[in-house]
This record gives sequence, C-alpha cells and structure tokens, in this order.
Amino acid sequence: MISVEAHLGGILSQIRPLDPVERGIGEAEGTVLAEDVTAEHPLPSFDNSAMDGYAVRSDDLAGASDDHPVTLPVLGEVAAGDTGAYTVSAGMCVRITTGARLPAGADAIVPVEWTDGGGAAKVTIRRAPEPGHAIRRQGEDLQPGAAVLGGGTRIGPMQLGLLAAAGRGRLRVRPQPRVVVFSTGNELAEPGTPIVPGRIWDSNSFMLAAAARQAGCVAYRHGPVADDPRALVAAIEDQLGRADALITSGGVSMGGEHDVVKDVLSRIGSVRFGKVAIHPGSPQGFGMIASAGGRLSDGSPAEAAPSGGGPAESSQPGEGAPIPIFTLPGNPVSAYVSFQIFVLPALNAMQGMAPQPAPLVRAALTGPLRSPPGKRSFLRGQLEHGQSGARVTPLSGQGSHQLAALASANALIVVPEEVTEMAGGDVANVLSLP
Ligand code: AMP
Ligand code: MG
Repeated sequence: MISVEAHLGGILSQIRPLDPVERGIGEAEGTVLAEDVTAEHPLPSFDNSAMDGYAVRSDDLAGASDDHPVTLPVLGEVAAGDTGAYTVSAGMCVRITTGARLPAGADAIVPVEWTDGGGAAKVTIRRAPEPGHAIRRQGEDLQPGAAVLGGGTRIGPMQLGLLAAAGRGRLRVRPQPRVVVFSTGNELAEPGTPIVPGRIWDSNSFMLAAAARQAGCVAYRHGPVADDPRALVAAIEDQLGRADALITSGGVSMGGEHDVVKDVLSRIGSVRFGKVAIHPGSPQGFGMIASAGGRLSDGSPAEAAPSGGGPAESSQPGEGAPIPIFTLPGNPVSAYVSFQIFVLPALNAMQGMAPQPAPLVRAALTGPLRSPPGKRSFLRGQLEHGQSGARVTPLSGQGSHQLAALASANALIVVPEEVTEMAGGDVANVLSLP
C-alpha cells in the first residue's frame, strides 16, 4: 500500500502542462493565462468624470451653500465618447456626463444633485466641491507597466473584464483540457431507463464529468462500458485522439475477469494499479496511454506506428502521443474523493496552475467520528463558519456507496492515517469542496 503523497507525486511527475495557444479575448473565457500580462496603457486612460454634473474650477465655488448659491454660465456639454478638447475658464463651467473626458482647467465635478438642474445657459450650485471631487484620475486603476494578471490565473468573468478594460485583444493561454469520462460495469444503466434488481443507474460518469467541468475542463461523458475487454479497448481507442485526459470508474479492485479496467490496462505496462492508503477509494490506477497502429500502447517510440506522433514525453494529444488515464474505483463516493485528491491536482497542472487544491481549514468537530487504521480518511462533513470559528459536522451515512451524504456535504474531514477516533470538540483539518 502506498501513501496518498506517493500516489499523487507519481501522477504529477508525469503530467505536463498543455502547450499554450493564442486566443482572441472572446474565446479566452475559462482558460488559464500562460503569460504575465502587464498594462500597456494607464487605466483609466484619461482623467474623466465619475458623475453626471458640471466640470468646474473649485475656486469659483468657494463658500457656495444653500444660503449663498453660486450661478455659473454653462459653456457647453461634454459627453462620454466625445473626443474634442474642452476648456473651463475662470468663472465658467461645462456640463459633463459620467465617463466624459475632464475639460482642461476644471479641477472638480459638481454632481447634478447639488444644482438646480441647470439650463442651457447657466446653472445654480448650492455646495462647494473639494478639488478633485468626482474625478477619476488617469492611471488610478493601473499604471503603465503594472502587473495586470499573472500566468497561471484562470480567466473568469472578473479577469476577462480587466483584460478587456486594459485593451488586450489577444492572449496566450492554456486551453481547457478535453476530458473523456467512462463508467464501466455490466450493472450500469442510463438514468431514466427502467431497471430490474441487479442493475443500477450509472452515477459516476455524470458526477465526474461535472467535476472535471468545475475544474475548468471541457468534459465529455461516454455511456457505460460493459465489463468486456474488447468493449473497453474499443471505447478507449475511440476517444484517445480527441482527449487530453481519460477518467474511468469501476473495474480496478482485486483484478480478475470482472475487473476489466485493471485487467486490460495493466498489460500496457505504463498504467499501474495498486492500493493507496486512502479511505474511501483505496484501489487506484494511473498511467500514460496512447493509441498506436490500432491498439493501446504506452506511447514509447518503439511501439508507435510509423505515422505516429510525438515522443513519449510529449504532452500533446493526437495519434501516438500518450495522455494520462485515471482509473478510479467504482463506488461513487470513492470515485468522487479520488477525483478531488488525485485527479484535480493533475488537471490543474495540465492547465499550468498550482496543482494543489485549496488549503485545509481547521474546524472543531461537532460530534465524534471513526476512521480505519493506516489510511487517511476523507469523511463527508458540513462545514460552517460561525462567530466562535469554524465547526464541522460529520454526516451520517459514510459508506462509500452513500451518495446522499456526499451530496449534502460541503467539505471532507481529513483524518490522519494513525488516528482511528476523534471526539466532539477535537479540531480537524477540513478540505472545502468546490
Ligand atoms: P467496481 O469498482 O467496479 O468493483 O464497483 C464497485 C461498486 O461501485 C459496485 O457496487 C458497483 O456497482 C458500483 N459502481 C461502479 N460503477 C458505478 C457507476 N458508474 N455508478 C454507480 N455505481 C457504480
Ligand atoms: Mg465493476
């Protein structure tokens, strides 16, 4: 039995980030930056008004109040998008809209709410603005040369907004990995179809494909594959050319004719199976796999077909290039926990991000729990952040087939290998689930 760290380390040592590509900003959502972006222009790029109102010289309004309003002639109007250069001379003002360029000479904006609303020719102002009032200064968001976003940052809605505001039309990014998810097992049926005792509805492929999407991938779910070596090989062969990573569930336990995933893939050599000191989810397999000359291989040059693609260490998909395959155990909770602990870090690394998931939080247990000796347990829990700190409640239904408790969990309680019991009030390490 190998440790959680050893298994994860073995996986990460074989994972390479996908090659960067250049994308228009309209196609960059969900990808990860493969360059450090610095500001080429100041943001805002010119001094402008934060409000609808009047651009003034603040000296002209010293002492303006309800009792002593000041009336100024209005020279004209500058609206957002106007590119002409206006000037406010002493004793004058210019009507201005939010985002319009600040006229030369003006040093403050009087919001329209401080005025009588104004007319075409003049406006009466009842309050004195401080110099700089309601002015957005050039460069106050970003100075030229400032770091906008670093490589390894996922481009979500806010990052997209910033990159667009900074004027970037094209970006170097790592594409979203294409992940194909299979379930294996003769017992599996499509949800929504009738079943008889002995059969179950496939849950893992839906769950794992969704988890891969949550991890930033483009995930495809393949329908259940029977426990038949030929069916499994055909399904994997069929997907190899269009995937950057494969995930299977089921068929990796003790081996033998029913554990077809282990049986078939362990023959390739580059895919290794074994027991990991984790609960749930002890039987695990991982390796690099390629298609060469119509059969599965480890992708080494000697085995590749003459037309085959890159060398064994290439990270790129395509004919002959090996890609990672994660073979997870079939029990749904085991499969999900395995995804979070072993697959997610690898998918992060493929995208050029730090592989580790979110840091653990410390939380007080609201009740006792038990854990098998010699294994690191990841028990389903409900984490809350109260006034007296973080608390976590171990959920009932901790069986590795019990999806109901998993679906109501928002965290995994991490119990170290040597710990077999914890009491209410003990402080545990907790992994927040995405
Ligand atoms: P296996 O790892 O194939 O021995 O399966 C272990 C357990 O997980 C068995 O009870 C299977 O029926 C169940 N199982 C395997 N695959 C799935 C799946 N895709 N959805 C739900 N349960 C599954
Ligand atoms: Mg099975």
